[in-house]
Amino acid sequence: MKKLVLVSLLCINFLFIGFSQEIVKESVSTPIIENETFNPDISTEYYLNTLSPEQKQKSDSYFEGGYWLGLWGFLMELVIAFIFLSLGLSKWIKNIAEKVRNIHIQGFIYVAIYFLFSYILTFPFSLYQGFFREHKYGLSNLDFIGWFSEEMIGLSLSLAFGSILLTFLYAVIRKVKQNWWIWGSGIMVLFLVFSMFISPVFISPLFNDYKPLENQEIKEEILSMARANGVPADNVYQFDASKQSNRISANVSGFGSTIRVSLNDNLLNECTPAEIKSVMAHELGHYVLNHVYEMLIYIALLIFIGFAFINWAYNKLITRFKNKWAISGIADIGGLPLIVFLFTAFFFIASPIMNNIVRSNEVEADYFGLNTAREPDGFASVSMKLSTYRKIDPGKFEEIFLFDHPSGKTRVSTAMHWKAEHLE
Ligand SMILES: [Zn+2]
Repeated sequence: MKKLVLVSLLCINFLFIGFSQEIVKESVSTPIIENETFNPDISTEYYLNTLSPEQKQKSDSYFEGGYWLGLWGFLMELVIAFIFLSLGLSKWIKNIAEKVRNIHIQGFIYVAIYFLFSYILTFPFSLYQGFFREHKYGLSNLDFIGWFSEEMIGLSLSLAFGSILLTFLYAVIRKVKQNWWIWGSGIMVLFLVFSMFISPVFISPLFNDYKPLENQEIKEEILSMARANGVPADNVYQFDASKQSNRISANVSGFGSTIRVSLNDNLLNECTPAEIKSVMAHELGHYVLNHVYEMLIYIALLIFIGFAFINWAYNKLITRFKNKWAISGIADIGGLPLIVFLFTAFFFIASPIMNNIVRSNEVEADYFGLNTAREPDGFASVSMKLSTYRKIDPGKFEEIFLFDHPSGKTRVSTAMHWKAEHLE
């Protein structure tokens, strides 16, 4: 279930563009030699060389470590499913839940205890990935108490929303039986829309303070770009991300009437006006090009296929392990760990598809941003800054399959080729 929530969060945050500011402190200008032709490829190389070999090595190591963490995380989910199903933890929770008579309340109790155990079992992994590793690479500003409090907020949200969602889902499964997966994917998509809608208003403020843009110097330029592209100025916010990390970021969140562009204080404090402008124009691109809605359609489709896969795999496995796992069928709440595992497995295998969907939107927003801000050097230099946590120059297929944003090299090259086409 953690993954179901993760998928929703992934969707909510898919437009997240993260830039870390530690590498390049000042904006660099590409060398344009008088009376010589501007060469976009040489300029791209120039930007890439602003990174020292040590910085590049650290960046690669952080990002490539993430590939392995993804794999270990998936294998851990397999072990957790084994603990719940084969070692009898699920049966034990079900016995506790069945002390209550009402079948819906039974489901609610099961889901809540399942979440709690799931969290405890994955805690060492989350602690390493979210706290120790982030500190090792100098990417976190949270002390342990701060990190743990955020974890607890996240767990409470999963418990509250996840228990309600799954109790409802199981009530529907019991009613419709065979076609449960069609109804189930519909419910998941509705839940996704609901969580996207409330996210900027009720969820994000639990972690950060959001307020209208304050910085007067940059405010007018950003709002001017917003007005010129039909984005209401009321929908541009800033938030205090520096309490969590040094990463420079901005994002588009919300759905319908709650949709908004938010930029963080690291971006405002650490970047040049040209860099801020280029990042904001990129975010406005997501907004103007309706990427939130486009993504929703793609994710809905993936959820639909995912549920069809779960239905198929669940029935196959249950025929074989029915007695061993003490699960009677799809409507049996004791089978939840299996559903969660199959869902996780599906999205793990589908992650290259997901990456391509997200990355193609990012490319569109990059071009929109360049055309709107007309700051190719600002965009190139800020793209170099993300190297603290995103590999700057990956292999071709590595970028295609494993990157959900264009690499630094691709972005710098895009900016320099844009510049070459717009030289006076
Ligand atoms: Zn983006």
